[in-house]
Order: sequence, then structure tokens, then C-alpha cells
Amino acid sequence: MSAEQDVIIGAGLTGSLLAILLARTGRHVRVYERLPDQRRQALPAGRSINLALAARGIRALEQAGAMPHVAPLLIPMCGRMLHDAQGRLSFAPYGQREDEVIYSVSRPGLNRILLDLAEEAGVELRFQHSALAVDVRRGCFTLRDERSGDLHDRPLQNVFAADGAGSAMRRGLVDELGVYCSEELLKHGYKELTLPSGPDGAHRLEPNALHIWPRGGFMLIALPNVDGSFTVTLFLAHEGEHSFETLRNEAAVERFFSMHFADALALMPQLAREFLEHPVGVMGTVRCHQWSVGDRLLLLGDAAHAITPFHGQGMNCAFEDCRELMALLAQGAKRADAFKQFERHRRVHTDAIADMALENYVEMRDTVRDPQFHLQRALALELERRHPQRFVPRYSMVMFHDEIPYAVALELNMVAAKLERDP
Ligand code: FAD
Repeated sequence: MSAEQDVIIGAGLTGSLLAILLARTGRHVRVYERLPDQRRQALPAGRSINLALAARGIRALEQAGAMPHVAPLLIPMCGRMLHDAQGRLSFAPYGQREDEVIYSVSRPGLNRILLDLAEEAGVELRFQHSALAVDVRRGCFTLRDERSGDLHDRPLQNVFAADGAGSAMRRGLVDELGVYCSEELLKHGYKELTLPSGPDGAHRLEPNALHIWPRGGFMLIALPNVDGSFTVTLFLAHEGEHSFETLRNEAAVERFFSMHFADALALMPQLAREFLEHPVGVMGTVRCHQWSVGDRLLLLGDAAHAITPFHGQGMNCAFEDCRELMALLAQGAKRADAFKQFERHRRVHTDAIADMALENYVEMRDTVRDPQFHLQRALALELERRHPQRFVPRYSMVMFHDEIPYAVALELNMVAAKLERDP
């Protein structure tokens, strides 16, 4: 392979979208993916089944020409449907305009579409090839063919690492170059469960909402799927009084759900079995102080800056990475300079969304239970309605206004909060 070609590690959401965008500029692109081709073989359970897609992600998908293919997979969610402990419902809209919605989308469905489009654009997809290690000094990285076990060295030139939160390529930078990188794991984990459709394939909860059962130190959420089911996720501490470690058998699981989520339990007949079968996922925030090495290597997506899922922005942010990187490459600067500029410009924003995602966890599982919170939300929306040029609520800035960078949304919200406290 000539040095002028691009190599992407990871055919997840970031890698496959970037592959399409690079191939459309005439580059030859090869992608190495550790897993088998998920269009032919179902992937192991445990990864999030559906995701919230918002403005930043949509804009990047439009740039790749993917939106007409993705649209049939989307279910609009107009707000949060809160389930209190007595099973009473209350609805809090996300925005105030009809188009201010986020969309539930199937992760595998979206990934398969992007892989198809990548192939159509001429991208070479090599499945069951894992990147193992990076040798920056020798200018190569090592791949393992998972079927034969053979190891191959490849040139470390124009390599884009989109190999996710546990990135082997990032580890290479840390081990080889001493790059500082913090990986802060949450004390909470998550478990995915299913709330099946009704007998006629209809949704058994309001489909156009993201459902939340906030319970203080933990919460349950549910996002709709096009087949009438919901993917339900329990966010809970790994250890302690209310924790995964205390839910080790069917009776304990049923007891916990009947105590805290009785309305959901009534709709989840296979809960206890699924609960014991499905893995507990870990969540955390990765902050890496260097994403690039000359024109050799660039980290992006979760590999560079994994965040917690509570703002529904990890994928959206990763797609925005791809769009911003392509804009820099299109300016014709040397690649090394474009990579550096990307890293310099982008990190302040990925740090900001990481912080906002952590704050949102407290809001989703706890603050939403406070009537004061709803009053503040209503006031914020009213303020925006009256002065749309002067005020936009933070949630709306992040989810609906892709023209407002994350760090600006964070900063403007701090100013608004200060004015509220200290008018
Ligand atoms: P990944 O999706 O992790 O893909 C990495 C790819 O690289 C995988 O295909 C993997 O097999 C492959 N790979 C890994 N290691 C190697 C290797 N050594 N060699 C070759 N290939 C390798 N984001 C949102 O925007 N909205 C949401 O609602 C949302 N909800 C979420 C809910 C949960 C519970 C979680 C955990 C995350 C959620 N996210 C959400 C975040 C989102 O899933 C990630 O930000 C997104 O998947 C990042 O994509 P990626 O391609 O960078 O990484």
C-alpha cells in the first residue's frame, strides 16, 4: 500500500463514516476491523442497541449522503417521559419547535448502512484484523489476522485510529511516547434489557419520547425501536446498597424492579433471565493530551475522547469530529498541520461535552425529580421563545444547534447560571 493511502482502524460508527468521507475525496481507504462483518454475523450482546441521534450527527450523515438511507430507522423523541415511583407519568419537552427533537436509531442498523456506503465509495474493508501495537520510532503498527493468528507490520502513515474507548492505538501513544491520558471510570455501570412490543407489534409505551425512571442514585431509561420494542438500560452502581453486586439472582432482580420500576416490570416478561445473561457495561471519560503524531497517526471518536452517555452525544460528537477533520483537510494544508490543528481546535470542545455529559447524569437520575427543575426548564424555554436571538437553553444548544460549539454552550450556560444566582 502506498503512503498516500489512508488507513482506518475500527469500522464502528466513526471509522465507517470517516471512510466514506475520505473515499469521496478520491483517496484510497482501507479499514481494519477486529470483529467479523456485522452485516453477515450478529455481534455479541452488550453494546448499546440504540442511540440518540441529534443535530451534530445528522449534519455529518448528510455530508456523507447517508441520511436518506438512515431516515427509515429513525423514531423522533420529542421529550422526556418521566415515570415516578407510583407509576405516574409527566412529559417534559426537549425543545419548543416541532423540529427540536432527537431521534432513536439502531446502532447496528446505522453501522451497517455506513459500511454499505463505504464499500460503494470504494473503501476496502478488512474484517477480523486487530491493531495490536504501535511502534512510532520504527514508523509501523502491528496487525493480527484473527482467523490465522498471523502478525503483520504496516506503515504508520496516514493512519486514523477510530478503535473506540479502549483504543489499542491510543495505548501505543501512552506507552511509547509517554502521552498523558486519564481514563476515569464511573462507579456506575449499565445493563441493557428489552421491553418487547405488544402482540400487534405496537409500542407499549409512548414511542415518541425517551422514558426515564429517575430514582436518585440510579435510573432506568428506555428508547423506542422501529419493531415496537424498547431498549431499556439500567444505570446502577457496581457496588453498595443499590448495586449490580446485590442483584445476583432472579428473585433479587424481580424484587428490585417491583420496588423501584413496577410499571416497567409489568411490561418486561423476560426481565430476570435477560438480567442474569447480559453483561454489565462500564462507562468512563477519556481525556488524552495528544491525539496526533505528525502525519502518521490521528486518534478520533471515542479513541480520542470517550465520554459518558448521559447527554446522548458520544456518537454525535464523533461524527462532528469527522466533519471538522474533513473541513481542515479540504483547506489543503499539510496533513501533519491539519492533524495538529484538529487536535488543538477540537479538544476544548470534547472536554466541554465530557463535563456536560457528567453533569447530565445527575440531572437525569436525580434533579428531574425536583419540581424546581421543571419550573427552571419552563422558564428557560419561555425566555428562548421571547428572545430567541439572545437566549437558548443549554440542552438545546448541545442537541439542536450544531453551529454552537460545545465549549461555547458550556460557557454561555455558566454565564446564565451566574446571572440567575447573582442578577
Ligand atoms: P466504537 O463504537 O467503540 O467503535 C470502535 C470500533 O473499533 C469497533 O467496531 C471495534 O470492534 C473496533 N476495534 C476496537 N479495537 C480494535 C482494534 N484493536 N483493531 C481493530 N478494530 C478495533 N452516543 C450518542 O451520540 N447518543 C447516544 O444516545 C449514546 N448512547 C450510548 C449509550 C451507551 C450505554 C454507551 C456505552 C454509549 C452511548 N453513546 C451514545 C456513545 C457512542 O456509543 C460512542 O460515542 C460511539 O460508539 C463511538 O464510536 P467509535 O466508532 O468512535 O467507537
